[in-house]
Amino acid sequence: MIWLSSAPGPGGYVAAIRAAQLGMKVAVVEKRATHGGTCLNVGCIPSKALLHASELSCRRPATTASPTMGIKVQPALDLAAMLAFKDEGVKGNVQGVEFLLKKNKIEPFHGTGQHRRARQGRGHGQQRRRADA
Ligand SMILES: Cc1cc2nc3c(=O)[nH]c(=O)nc-3n(C[C@H](O)[C@H](O)[C@H](O)COP(=O)(O)OP(=O)(O)OC[C@H]3O[C@@H](n4cnc5c(N)ncnc54)[C@H](O)[C@@H]3O)c2cc1C
Repeated sequence: MIWLSSAPGPGGYVAAIRAAQLGMKVAVVEKRATHGGTCLNVGCIPSKALLHASELSCRRPATTASPTMGIKVQPALDLAAMLAFKDEGVKGNVQGVEFLLKKNKIEPFHGTGQHRRARQGRGHGQQRRRADA
């Protein structure tokens, strides 16, 4: 049996891997350059990497050199380094998903997928509307 997922985000790639484990031949179609969906590419992972870096920058001066001990530290933002740290985290996760797809023999495609049944459904809907009019 062939099973196709056109949304390999956290929902789609987990379902694709499970389908492959159950013996189906599986392919995934992703319109982004990398797999992993919103969460890994632009959502949870990158936002948490930036939040984590921001939080540490507030905490670290206070824990390593307390102003009450006579040392004050002014944080300075190196945005390029911060974004590189975020990109490195995203890359690791995305490569992890690609590894899992490969390990489970899931064929990855890049492009915009379309479910054939959805198109047929739209066609039927139009016919019904005409019939009702
Ligand atoms: C800024 C931000 C922060 C977030 N933080 C968190 C968090 O901390 N914790 C949390 O639990 N959730 C968080 N989320 C929500 C989380 O990202 C989503 O709940 C999750 O990604 C949904 O997974 P999904 O698999 O349903 O869809 P998605 O991750 O959106 O994956 C769908 C994929 O399918 C692709 N696609 C869609 N249509 C087609 C098509 N026709 N052809 C080919 N490809 C297609 C899309 O490009 C996308 O990559 C955050 C979201 C954002 C935006």
